[in-house]
Amino acid sequence: MPGHAVVTGGAGFVGSHLCERLLARGLRVTCVDNLSTGRADNIAHLHGDFHFVEADVARGLDITGHVDLVLHLASPASPRDYERLPVETLQVGAVGTGHALDLAQANGARFVLASTSEVYGDPREHPQRETYWGNVNPVGPRSVYDEAKRYAEALTAACRRARGVNTGIARIFNTYGPRMRADDGRAIPTFVKQVLTGEPVTVAGEGAQTRSLCYVDDTVDGLLALADSDFPGPVNLGNPHELRIRDLVGEIQRLAGTSVLVRGIPAPVDDPQRRCPDIAVAQRELGWQPRVELHEGLRRTLKWFATHLSLV
Ligand code: NAD
Ligand code: UDP
Repeated sequence: MPGHAVVTGGAGFVGSHLCERLLARGLRVTCVDNLSTGRADNIAHLHGDFHFVEADVARGLDITGHVDLVLHLASPASPRDYERLPVETLQVGAVGTGHALDLAQANGARFVLASTSEVYGDPREHPQRETYWGNVNPVGPRSVYDEAKRYAEALTAACRRARGVNTGIARIFNTYGPRMRADDGRAIPTFVKQVLTGEPVTVAGEGAQTRSLCYVDDTVDGLLALADSDFPGPVNLGNPHELRIRDLVGEIQRLAGTSVLVRGIPAPVDDPQRRCPDIAVAQRELGWQPRVELHEGLRRTLKWFATHLSLV
């Protein structure tokens, strides 16, 4: 493992856990974040060789000292956030990714892109393998995120081919855990908050759409395994345990020991109907697979939200 890591988006949900783990490995960590969807509180506990730069990655990356590893996570990630910040999402995925790749190239550093299962859109192939090219509406409300990430992958692959940058692309599937914002609109923080406060749970459509949910510690393990390797990817990082959204609601209520009403809400436009990663590539190339079972990850998440709900 190298000595100085730059984490863009390091004050966000996944990024803050990643910074924590890199510091524990003894690295110097520089976190660059504009706090548009992240929170200073997520990194307030990080000390030692940790440096925070409040900046917009789409405007450039001004880093002091040699860099060995660039982990590019900066981007709004929840549908509510990227629909609120559509142009910013496209800019950080396009121009921001260009700056992060330039930084890696200038330093001869390993570069890891946090891409997403959203590149598969509403998939026609199930489970999704890395060889599937996706089914994305290029002008729908989700396109600002999906197409930004698809462009980011294309730019990353081009910089590897044409400029010799040592790149790796991770396609992260739905990840959950402590430090998600209760108001980010994603299913788990929304349902957990509703169950803990006794509000009706907002299930979109019939709730028959599926997701496969990965606990954040597992996702971070996967990102670190990719960083440690020379594997270009793309590689799916996710938990293949697939379940329907209405069953997820049932599981959260069961673990919380409460029962609340369900309030139907309209399904979002272009909401993917089924999503489940094939993780054979990650198992073979990185020796990685998730370890935290859904009930255990949800238990830890409920516990964290129970004590932090008034703060997030
Ligand atoms: P998050 O919103 O908590 O974190 C993203 C961070 O990026 C925030 O701290 C935000 O302030 C920062 N940011 C956004 N635009 C920026 C800019 N222009 N310059 C600097 N910083 C900027 O989201 P997250 O869930 O932690 O996601 C992190 C990364 O992982 C994202 O790239 C996301 O696309 C990817 N990902 C996450 C998931 C998931 O389920 N959490 C799934 C797939 C992919
Ligand atoms: N969802 C829901 N109620 C909510 C929030 C989300 O039923 O209050 C559904 C949403 O329509 C989607 C699934 O849960 O089918 C996962 O949504 P999330 O925003 O967490 O992730 P993504 O759609 O980006 O996978």
